[in-house]
Amino acid sequence: MISFEAFKSNLKQVKSRIDTACDAADRAVDSVQLLPVTKNHPLDAVLYAARAGLTAVGENRVQEASEKHAQYMGEVRWELIGHLQSNKAKDAVAMFDRVQSVDSLKLLNRLNRCAEQAGKSLSILLQCNTGADPNKHGFSVAEMKVALETAVAAEFLQVDGLMTIAPLDDDLDVAKASFEGLRDLRDRLSAEYKLPLTELSMGMTGDLEVAIAAGSTQIRVGTALYGIREL
Ligand SMILES: *Cc1c(COP(=O)(O)O)cnc(C)c1O
Repeated sequence: MISFEAFKSNLKQVKSRIDTACDAADRAVDSVQLLPVTKNHPLDAVLYAARAGLTAVGENRVQEASEKHAQYMGEVRWELIGHLQSNKAKDAVAMFDRVQSVDSLKLLNRLNRCAEQAGKSLSILLQCNTGADPNKHGFSVAEMKVALETAVAAEFLQVDGLMTIAPLDDDLDVAKASFEGLRDLRDRLSAEYKLPLTELSMGMTGDLEVAIAAGSTQIRVGTALYGIREL
C-alpha cells in the first residue's frame, strides 16, 4: 500500500487531469465527481479517501467491501460498481448507498424486494454494455427500455442514471464510442420517459478524459490514485 503522501500526490495529478479535461470540454470542474475505487486495496485505501475529503468509495465485491464497511461505514458513502449475484443482494442493500452495476431484471427485482424488507429506498444506476463487449456485464442497448420501465416501477429503487465500462482496448476511440453511446442513450431515454437520469458513471484511469468529453458526471478511478491493485 502506498503512503498517504503518495496518495495525495496522485490525487493532485488526477484532479489536474480532470481540470484539463473539463476545460477542453467547456465544462465546470464540479460537474464531474471523482469516485476513488478501493477494490483490491487494503483497508487504509478508504481512510486515505476520507482523509483527503473524498466522500464516497467504489468497491466491486460484497465480501471484500464488508470488511472495509465494518471498519469505516460512517466515514464515506459506499458504491457497488462490480457484478452482483442475486443471492448477495440482501447484503449489498444493507451495505451500499448505491448499486451502479444493476445488469439484469432478475437482480433489479431482487434488489427491490430486499430494499423493501430493509425499509429503505436504494439508489441505483442501470449498467449498459454500450460497447457490446462479450466480457462485460450490463444490459444491451436494446434491453434498456424494459430495464428502465422495470426500475421505475420498482417502488423501493431510485434510478439516478446510467453506468458503463468501456471495452478493454488500447484504442481510445473504442472507449469514446462506448461513452458517447451511453450519453446518447441517456438523452433518448430521458426525453421519452421524462426522467432526469442525471448520473452518467463512465471513465476510469485510462480513459477519463474521453469520458469527460462525452459527458461523464462520475469517473471511477483506482490505479491512478492507489497504484497497481494488490489483493
Ligand atoms: C476496477 C474498476 C475501476 C477502476 O479502474 P482503474 O483502471 O484502476 O481506474 C472502475 N470501474 C469499475 C467498474 C472497476 O471494476
